[in-house]
Amino acid sequence: MTSHPPVPSHPPVIVVGAGIIGASIAWHLARRGAAVTLVDAARPGGVATAASFAWINASWGNPEPYVRLRMAAMAGWRGLDAEVPALNVAWTGGLLWDLPEEDLRTFAAERSATGYAVRLVDGAEAHRLEPAIAVPPTLAVHARGEAAVEPAAAAEALAAAAVQRGATVRTDTPVAALSLADGRVTGIVLADGTVIAADHVVVAAGIATPALVAPAGVTLPLKDPPGLLIRTAPLPKLLNGLVMAPALHVRQAADGRLVAGADFGGADPGADAAATADRVFADLRSLLAADVPLTLEGFNVGRRPTPADGFPAVGRIAGVEGLSVAVMHSGVTLAPAIGAFLADEVLTGRREPLLAPYRPERFIG
Ligand SMILES: Cc1cc2nc3c(=O)[nH]c(=O)nc-3n(C[C@H](O)[C@H](O)[C@H](O)COP(=O)(O)OP(=O)(O)OC[C@H]3O[C@@H](n4cnc5c(N)ncnc54)[C@H](O)[C@@H]3O)c2cc1C
Repeated sequence: MTSHPPVPSHPPVIVVGAGIIGASIAWHLARRGAAVTLVDAARPGGVATAASFAWINASWGNPEPYVRLRMAAMAGWRGLDAEVPALNVAWTGGLLWDLPEEDLRTFAAERSATGYAVRLVDGAEAHRLEPAIAVPPTLAVHARGEAAVEPAAAAEALAAAAVQRGATVRTDTPVAALSLADGRVTGIVLADGTVIAADHVVVAAGIATPALVAPAGVTLPLKDPPGLLIRTAPLPKLLNGLVMAPALHVRQAADGRLVAGADFGGADPGADAAATADRVFADLRSLLAADVPLTLEGFNVGRRPTPADGFPAVGRIAGVEGLSVAVMHSGVTLAPAIGAFLADEVLTGRREPLLAPYRPERFIG
Protein backbone atom coordinates (compact mmCIF):
# COMPACT_ATOMS: atom_id res chain seq x y z
CA MET A 1 0.00 0.00 0.00
CA THR A 2 1.21 3.55 -0.63
CA SER A 3 1.70 5.85 2.34
CA HIS A 4 -0.49 8.92 2.75
CA PRO A 5 -0.14 12.09 4.80
CA PRO A 6 -2.26 12.19 7.98
CA VAL A 7 -5.75 13.65 7.61
CA PRO A 8 -5.96 16.43 10.22
CA SER A 9 -9.04 16.85 12.40
CA HIS A 10 -11.26 14.61 10.30
CA PRO A 11 -14.80 14.08 11.62
CA PRO A 12 -15.27 10.93 13.69
CA VAL A 13 -15.63 7.50 12.10
CA ILE A 14 -17.11 4.43 13.81
CA VAL A 15 -16.14 0.93 12.68
CA VAL A 16 -18.60 -1.77 13.80
CA GLY A 17 -16.90 -5.17 14.21
CA ALA A 18 -13.37 -5.92 15.37
CA GLY A 19 -12.67 -9.06 13.37
CA ILE A 20 -9.72 -8.95 11.00
CA ILE A 21 -11.60 -6.67 8.56
CA GLY A 22 -12.85 -4.07 11.04
CA ALA A 23 -9.55 -4.09 12.93
CA SER A 24 -7.62 -3.49 9.71
CA ILE A 25 -9.95 -0.67 8.65
CA ALA A 26 -9.63 0.94 12.11
CA TRP A 27 -5.83 0.64 11.99
CA HIS A 28 -5.62 2.23 8.56
CA LEU A 29 -8.00 5.05 9.57
CA ALA A 30 -6.05 5.73 12.77
CA ARG A 31 -2.78 5.61 10.87
CA ARG A 32 -4.13 8.37 8.61
CA GLY A 33 -4.96 10.51 11.65
CA ALA A 34 -8.74 9.96 11.68
CA ALA A 35 -10.70 9.99 14.95
CA VAL A 36 -11.88 6.37 14.93
CA THR A 37 -13.88 4.28 17.37
CA LEU A 38 -13.87 0.50 16.89
CA VAL A 39 -16.93 -1.13 18.48
CA ASP A 40 -17.44 -4.84 19.04
CA ALA A 41 -20.18 -6.92 20.65
CA ALA A 42 -17.40 -8.93 22.32
CA ARG A 43 -13.72 -8.12 22.01
CA PRO A 44 -11.23 -7.80 19.13
CA GLY A 45 -10.58 -11.14 17.47
CA GLY A 46 -13.77 -11.64 15.52
CA VAL A 47 -16.14 -14.54 14.99
CA ALA A 48 -15.33 -15.89 11.50
CA THR A 49 -11.79 -14.63 12.04
CA ALA A 50 -11.28 -16.69 15.17
CA ALA A 51 -12.45 -19.83 13.30
CA SER A 52 -10.32 -19.23 10.20
CA PHE A 53 -7.59 -21.35 8.63
CA ALA A 54 -5.92 -18.00 7.86
CA TRP A 55 -4.04 -18.90 4.69
CA ILE A 56 -2.83 -15.71 2.96
CA ASN A 57 -2.77 -16.41 -0.76
CA ALA A 58 -3.67 -15.55 -4.33
CA SER A 59 -3.86 -19.18 -5.29
CA TRP A 60 -5.36 -21.11 -8.19
CA GLY A 61 -8.98 -20.90 -9.28
CA ASN A 62 -9.71 -17.18 -8.92
CA PRO A 63 -10.65 -14.74 -11.71
CA GLU A 64 -7.91 -12.32 -12.74
CA PRO A 65 -9.28 -9.11 -11.10
CA TYR A 66 -9.68 -11.02 -7.84
CA VAL A 67 -6.12 -12.36 -8.10
CA ARG A 68 -4.88 -8.77 -8.49
CA LEU A 69 -6.78 -7.67 -5.38
CA ARG A 70 -5.40 -10.64 -3.45
CA MET A 71 -1.86 -9.92 -4.61
CA ALA A 72 -2.26 -6.29 -3.50
CA ALA A 73 -3.44 -7.61 -0.15
CA MET A 74 -0.42 -9.93 0.14
CA ALA A 75 1.85 -6.95 -0.50
CA GLY A 76 -0.19 -5.14 2.14
CA TRP A 77 0.57 -7.91 4.64
CA ARG A 78 4.30 -7.27 4.06
CA GLY A 79 3.79 -3.62 4.93
CA LEU A 80 1.58 -4.35 7.93
CA ASP A 81 4.01 -6.94 9.24
CA ALA A 82 6.78 -4.32 9.19
CA GLU A 83 4.63 -1.65 10.88
CA VAL A 84 2.92 -3.90 13.43
CA PRO A 85 5.51 -6.52 14.48
CA ALA A 86 3.02 -8.15 16.92
CA LEU A 87 1.25 -9.59 13.86
CA ASN A 88 3.97 -12.22 13.52
CA VAL A 89 3.04 -13.15 9.96
CA ALA A 90 4.44 -16.61 9.18
CA TRP A 91 5.93 -16.20 5.67
CA THR A 92 6.39 -19.93 5.25
CA GLY A 93 5.22 -20.46 1.69
CA GLY A 94 2.87 -23.26 0.70
CA LEU A 95 3.18 -26.63 -1.01
CA LEU A 96 0.10 -27.47 -3.09
CA TRP A 97 -0.88 -30.55 -5.05
CA ASP A 98 -4.67 -30.73 -4.73
CA LEU A 99 -5.08 -30.22 -8.49
CA PRO A 100 -4.79 -32.43 -11.58
CA GLU A 101 -1.24 -32.42 -12.98
CA GLU A 102 -2.25 -30.33 -16.00
CA ASP A 103 -3.70 -27.61 -13.72
CA LEU A 104 -0.57 -27.63 -11.57
CA ARG A 105 1.51 -26.97 -14.68
CA THR A 106 -0.86 -24.22 -15.89
CA PHE A 107 -0.93 -22.64 -12.42
CA ALA A 108 2.88 -22.50 -12.23
CA ALA A 109 3.29 -21.19 -15.77
CA GLU A 110 0.51 -18.60 -15.76
CA ARG A 111 0.93 -17.26 -12.27
CA SER A 112 4.71 -16.97 -12.26
CA ALA A 113 4.34 -14.70 -15.32
CA THR A 114 2.33 -12.30 -13.11
CA GLY A 115 5.02 -12.13 -10.42
CA TYR A 116 3.46 -14.68 -8.04
CA ALA A 117 6.43 -16.68 -6.78
CA VAL A 118 5.37 -20.20 -7.78
CA ARG A 119 7.39 -23.06 -9.21
CA LEU A 120 6.82 -26.72 -9.96
CA VAL A 121 8.62 -29.17 -7.68
CA ASP A 122 9.17 -32.90 -8.12
CA GLY A 123 8.84 -35.61 -5.47
CA ALA A 124 12.40 -35.25 -4.16
CA GLU A 125 12.03 -31.50 -3.75
CA ALA A 126 8.59 -31.90 -2.16
CA HIS A 127 10.13 -34.32 0.34
CA ARG A 128 12.95 -31.89 1.09
CA LEU A 129 10.40 -29.11 1.69
CA GLU A 130 8.06 -31.18 3.86
CA PRO A 131 9.81 -34.31 5.16
CA ALA A 132 6.91 -35.15 7.52
CA ILE A 133 4.60 -36.00 4.58
CA ALA A 134 4.34 -39.82 4.43
CA VAL A 135 4.04 -40.08 0.64
CA PRO A 136 5.32 -36.96 -1.11
CA PRO A 137 3.54 -35.93 -4.32
CA THR A 138 5.34 -36.65 -7.58
CA LEU A 139 4.48 -33.12 -8.75
CA ALA A 140 3.47 -30.06 -6.71
CA VAL A 141 3.52 -26.27 -6.82
CA HIS A 142 5.55 -24.42 -4.24
CA ALA A 143 4.30 -20.85 -3.63
CA ARG A 144 7.11 -19.09 -1.80
CA GLY A 145 5.24 -15.87 -0.97
CA GLU A 146 2.24 -17.42 0.78
CA ALA A 147 1.78 -16.99 4.50
CA ALA A 148 -0.49 -17.45 7.50
CA VAL A 149 -1.31 -15.56 10.68
CA GLU A 150 -2.88 -16.52 13.96
CA PRO A 151 -6.10 -14.76 12.94
CA ALA A 152 -7.71 -13.70 16.22
CA ALA A 153 -4.36 -12.56 17.60
CA ALA A 154 -3.74 -10.61 14.39
CA ALA A 155 -7.08 -8.78 14.75
CA GLU A 156 -6.20 -8.02 18.37
CA ALA A 157 -2.76 -6.75 17.33
CA LEU A 158 -4.27 -4.44 14.70
CA ALA A 159 -6.83 -3.09 17.17
CA ALA A 160 -4.06 -2.50 19.74
CA ALA A 161 -1.93 -0.78 17.11
CA ALA A 162 -4.91 1.44 16.20
CA VAL A 163 -5.23 2.42 19.87
CA GLN A 164 -1.54 3.36 19.85
CA ARG A 165 -2.41 5.76 17.02
CA GLY A 166 -5.26 7.32 18.99
CA ALA A 167 -8.23 5.06 18.18
CA THR A 168 -10.78 4.09 20.84
CA VAL A 169 -11.88 0.46 21.17
CA ARG A 170 -15.23 -0.29 22.83
CA THR A 171 -15.56 -3.95 23.79
CA ASP A 172 -18.71 -5.80 24.93
CA THR A 173 -20.76 -3.15 23.11
CA PRO A 174 -23.32 -4.67 20.75
CA VAL A 175 -24.62 -2.17 18.23
CA ALA A 176 -28.43 -2.42 18.18
CA ALA A 177 -28.96 -0.26 15.08
CA LEU A 178 -27.62 2.49 12.90
CA SER A 179 -28.77 5.98 13.80
CA LEU A 180 -30.56 7.40 10.76
CA ALA A 181 -31.79 10.91 10.01
CA ASP A 182 -33.05 12.22 6.68
CA GLY A 183 -31.73 9.20 4.81
CA ARG A 184 -28.19 9.52 6.13
CA VAL A 185 -26.35 7.59 8.83
CA THR A 186 -25.49 9.79 11.78
CA GLY A 187 -24.01 7.21 14.16
CA ILE A 188 -24.88 4.04 16.03
CA VAL A 189 -27.49 3.12 18.62
CA LEU A 190 -26.50 0.86 21.52
CA ALA A 191 -28.77 -1.66 23.27
CA ASP A 192 -29.65 0.85 26.05
CA GLY A 193 -30.65 3.44 23.47
CA THR A 194 -27.47 5.51 23.74
CA VAL A 195 -26.57 7.13 20.43
CA ILE A 196 -22.93 7.63 19.51
CA ALA A 197 -22.67 10.19 16.74
CA ALA A 198 -20.27 9.85 13.83
CA ASP A 199 -19.71 11.42 10.48
CA HIS A 200 -19.28 7.99 8.92
CA VAL A 201 -20.05 4.41 10.03
CA VAL A 202 -18.29 1.39 8.52
CA VAL A 203 -20.15 -1.86 9.16
CA ALA A 204 -17.70 -4.77 9.17
CA ALA A 205 -19.73 -7.08 11.37
CA GLY A 206 -19.27 -10.32 9.39
CA ILE A 207 -22.49 -12.33 9.09
CA ALA A 208 -24.33 -9.73 11.21
CA THR A 209 -23.77 -7.04 8.56
CA PRO A 210 -26.94 -7.47 6.43
CA ALA A 211 -29.29 -7.13 9.43
CA LEU A 212 -27.52 -3.97 10.61
CA VAL A 213 -27.67 -2.21 7.24
CA ALA A 214 -31.18 -3.36 6.18
CA PRO A 215 -33.01 -0.48 7.99
CA ALA A 216 -30.95 1.94 5.86
CA GLY A 217 -32.53 0.32 2.80
CA VAL A 218 -29.44 -1.72 1.95
CA THR A 219 -29.97 -5.28 0.75
CA LEU A 220 -26.88 -7.40 1.11
CA PRO A 221 -27.55 -11.04 0.18
CA LEU A 222 -25.16 -13.19 2.17
CA LYS A 223 -24.46 -16.90 2.44
CA ASP A 224 -22.75 -18.22 5.55
CA PRO A 225 -21.53 -21.73 4.74
CA PRO A 226 -20.10 -23.59 7.73
CA GLY A 227 -16.54 -24.87 7.78
CA LEU A 228 -15.02 -27.32 10.25
CA LEU A 229 -11.36 -27.29 11.21
CA ILE A 230 -9.67 -29.68 13.61
CA ARG A 231 -6.70 -28.94 15.82
CA THR A 232 -4.22 -31.32 17.36
CA ALA A 233 -2.31 -31.08 20.62
CA PRO A 234 0.87 -28.98 20.18
CA LEU A 235 3.82 -30.66 18.49
CA PRO A 236 7.45 -29.66 18.04
CA LYS A 237 8.10 -28.08 14.64
CA LEU A 238 6.86 -30.56 12.05
CA LEU A 239 5.73 -28.61 8.96
CA ASN A 240 7.83 -25.98 7.24
CA GLY A 241 4.88 -24.32 5.53
CA LEU A 242 1.26 -24.63 4.47
CA VAL A 243 0.36 -28.00 2.97
CA MET A 244 -2.49 -28.26 0.46
CA ALA A 245 -2.88 -31.98 -0.20
CA PRO A 246 -5.80 -33.50 -2.16
CA ALA A 247 -7.73 -34.75 0.88
CA LEU A 248 -6.61 -32.13 3.37
CA HIS A 249 -5.28 -28.63 3.92
CA VAL A 250 -3.06 -28.29 7.00
CA ARG A 251 -0.75 -25.81 8.66
CA GLN A 252 1.14 -25.72 11.91
CA ALA A 253 0.08 -22.81 14.09
CA ALA A 254 2.52 -20.67 16.06
CA ASP A 255 1.71 -22.66 19.22
CA GLY A 256 2.68 -25.96 17.54
CA ARG A 257 -0.88 -27.20 16.98
CA LEU A 258 -1.76 -28.56 13.53
CA VAL A 259 -4.90 -26.96 12.08
CA ALA A 260 -6.54 -28.97 9.31
CA GLY A 261 -9.68 -29.16 7.19
CA ALA A 262 -10.86 -30.95 4.08
CA ASP A 263 -10.35 -27.53 2.53
CA PHE A 264 -8.84 -24.30 3.89
CA GLY A 265 -12.44 -23.05 4.17
CA GLY A 266 -13.08 -26.01 6.46
CA ALA A 267 -14.88 -29.31 5.94
CA ASP A 268 -18.66 -29.32 5.66
CA PRO A 269 -19.53 -30.47 9.19
CA GLY A 270 -22.57 -32.42 7.93
CA ALA A 271 -25.14 -33.81 10.36
CA ASP A 272 -22.53 -35.14 12.79
CA ALA A 273 -19.70 -32.65 13.24
CA ALA A 274 -17.80 -34.88 15.68
CA ALA A 275 -17.79 -37.74 13.14
CA THR A 276 -16.59 -35.31 10.44
CA ALA A 277 -13.78 -34.16 12.75
CA ASP A 278 -12.76 -37.80 13.27
CA ARG A 279 -12.65 -38.32 9.49
CA VAL A 280 -10.52 -35.21 8.97
CA PHE A 281 -8.20 -36.44 11.74
CA ALA A 282 -7.93 -39.86 10.04
CA ASP A 283 -6.95 -38.09 6.81
CA LEU A 284 -4.33 -36.11 8.72
CA ARG A 285 -2.91 -39.36 10.14
CA SER A 286 -2.66 -40.82 6.63
CA LEU A 287 -0.99 -37.68 5.29
CA LEU A 288 1.79 -37.64 7.86
CA ALA A 289 4.57 -40.11 8.62
CA ALA A 290 3.39 -42.93 10.91
CA ASP A 291 5.70 -41.96 13.78
CA VAL A 292 4.21 -38.45 14.23
CA PRO A 293 2.49 -38.54 17.66
CA LEU A 294 -0.89 -36.97 16.83
CA THR A 295 -3.65 -36.24 19.33
CA LEU A 296 -6.96 -34.72 18.25
CA GLU A 297 -7.52 -31.87 20.70
CA GLY A 298 -10.78 -30.53 19.29
CA PHE A 299 -12.56 -28.89 16.39
CA ASN A 300 -14.47 -25.74 15.64
CA VAL A 301 -17.14 -24.87 13.12
CA GLY A 302 -17.05 -21.32 11.75
CA ARG A 303 -19.35 -19.56 9.32
CA ARG A 304 -17.88 -17.80 6.31
CA PRO A 305 -19.44 -14.37 5.63
CA THR A 306 -19.85 -14.76 1.88
CA PRO A 307 -21.78 -12.30 -0.33
CA ALA A 308 -24.16 -14.16 -2.66
CA ASP A 309 -21.81 -14.20 -5.67
CA GLY A 310 -18.82 -15.30 -3.57
CA PHE A 311 -16.89 -12.01 -3.77
CA PRO A 312 -16.38 -9.15 -1.31
CA ALA A 313 -18.96 -6.42 -0.79
CA VAL A 314 -16.95 -3.35 0.13
CA GLY A 315 -17.25 0.41 -0.07
CA ARG A 316 -19.44 3.43 0.55
CA ILE A 317 -23.13 2.86 -0.04
CA ALA A 318 -24.30 5.05 -2.89
CA GLY A 319 -27.43 6.95 -1.88
CA VAL A 320 -26.92 6.56 1.89
CA GLU A 321 -24.57 9.26 3.15
CA GLY A 322 -22.26 8.26 5.96
CA LEU A 323 -22.35 4.47 5.48
CA SER A 324 -19.85 1.89 4.18
CA VAL A 325 -19.78 -1.89 4.44
CA ALA A 326 -17.01 -4.47 4.27
CA VAL A 327 -18.08 -8.11 4.30
CA MET A 328 -16.35 -11.03 2.63
CA HIS A 329 -14.91 -14.52 2.63
CA SER A 330 -11.08 -14.71 2.35
CA GLY A 331 -11.02 -11.77 4.70
CA VAL A 332 -7.77 -12.82 6.34
CA THR A 333 -5.97 -12.62 3.00
CA LEU A 334 -7.76 -9.43 1.98
CA ALA A 335 -7.71 -7.44 5.25
CA PRO A 336 -4.70 -5.17 4.53
CA ALA A 337 -5.99 -4.09 1.10
CA ILE A 338 -9.57 -3.65 2.29
CA GLY A 339 -8.37 -1.63 5.29
CA ALA A 340 -6.13 0.65 3.26
CA PHE A 341 -8.56 1.18 0.37
CA LEU A 342 -11.66 1.69 2.48
CA ALA A 343 -9.88 4.07 4.89
CA ASP A 344 -8.80 6.12 1.87
CA GLU A 345 -12.31 6.09 0.42
CA VAL A 346 -13.91 7.17 3.71
CA LEU A 347 -11.40 9.99 4.23
CA THR A 348 -10.97 11.29 0.68
CA GLY A 349 -13.81 9.84 -1.41
CA ARG A 350 -11.28 8.23 -3.77
CA ARG A 351 -12.56 4.93 -5.19
CA GLU A 352 -9.86 2.32 -5.60
CA PRO A 353 -10.08 0.73 -9.08
CA LEU A 354 -9.15 -2.71 -7.72
CA LEU A 355 -12.42 -2.65 -5.73
CA ALA A 356 -14.57 -1.79 -8.77
CA PRO A 357 -15.97 -5.34 -9.22
CA TYR A 358 -16.75 -5.62 -5.51
CA ARG A 359 -19.01 -2.65 -4.90
CA PRO A 360 -22.15 -3.35 -2.83
CA GLU A 361 -24.18 -1.56 -5.57
CA ARG A 362 -24.11 -4.75 -7.62
CA PHE A 363 -26.64 -6.17 -5.16
CA ILE A 364 -28.53 -2.96 -4.48
CA GLY A 365 -28.87 -1.82 -8.09
C1 LIG B 1 -13.44 -22.35 8.64
C2 LIG B 1 -12.99 -21.09 7.94
C3 LIG B 1 -11.79 -21.08 7.24
C4 LIG B 1 -11.36 -19.92 6.60
N1 LIG B 1 -10.14 -19.92 5.97
C5 LIG B 1 -9.68 -18.79 5.42
C6 LIG B 1 -8.36 -18.75 4.88
O1 LIG B 1 -7.63 -19.73 4.92
N2 LIG B 1 -7.93 -17.58 4.33
C7 LIG B 1 -8.72 -16.45 4.31
O2 LIG B 1 -8.28 -15.42 3.80
N3 LIG B 1 -9.97 -16.47 4.83
C8 LIG B 1 -10.47 -17.60 5.40
N4 LIG B 1 -11.70 -17.63 5.95
C9 LIG B 1 -12.55 -16.44 5.83
C10 LIG B 1 -12.16 -15.37 6.84
O3 LIG B 1 -11.92 -15.95 8.09
C11 LIG B 1 -13.26 -14.33 6.93
O4 LIG B 1 -13.48 -13.78 5.64
C12 LIG B 1 -12.88 -13.19 7.87
O5 LIG B 1 -12.49 -13.70 9.12
C13 LIG B 1 -14.04 -12.24 8.04
O6 LIG B 1 -13.64 -11.29 9.00
P1 LIG B 1 -14.65 -10.20 9.50
O7 LIG B 1 -13.87 -9.27 10.35
O8 LIG B 1 -15.39 -9.65 8.35
O9 LIG B 1 -15.75 -11.02 10.34
P2 LIG B 1 -15.73 -11.59 11.83
O10 LIG B 1 -14.44 -12.18 12.19
O11 LIG B 1 -16.94 -12.46 11.95
O12 LIG B 1 -15.89 -10.30 12.73
C14 LIG B 1 -17.11 -9.62 12.84
C15 LIG B 1 -17.12 -8.92 14.19
O13 LIG B 1 -18.31 -8.14 14.27
C16 LIG B 1 -18.78 -8.22 15.58
N5 LIG B 1 -20.22 -7.89 15.58
C17 LIG B 1 -21.20 -8.57 14.97
N6 LIG B 1 -22.38 -7.97 15.19
C18 LIG B 1 -22.12 -6.89 15.94
C19 LIG B 1 -22.94 -5.87 16.51
N7 LIG B 1 -24.27 -5.84 16.32
N8 LIG B 1 -22.34 -4.92 17.26
C20 LIG B 1 -21.00 -4.92 17.46
N9 LIG B 1 -20.19 -5.86 16.95
C21 LIG B 1 -20.75 -6.83 16.19
C22 LIG B 1 -18.49 -9.64 16.03
O14 LIG B 1 -18.45 -9.73 17.45
C23 LIG B 1 -17.14 -9.88 15.37
O15 LIG B 1 -16.07 -9.58 16.25
C24 LIG B 1 -12.15 -18.75 6.63
C25 LIG B 1 -13.35 -18.75 7.36
C26 LIG B 1 -13.75 -19.90 8.02
C27 LIG B 1 -15.02 -19.85 8.84
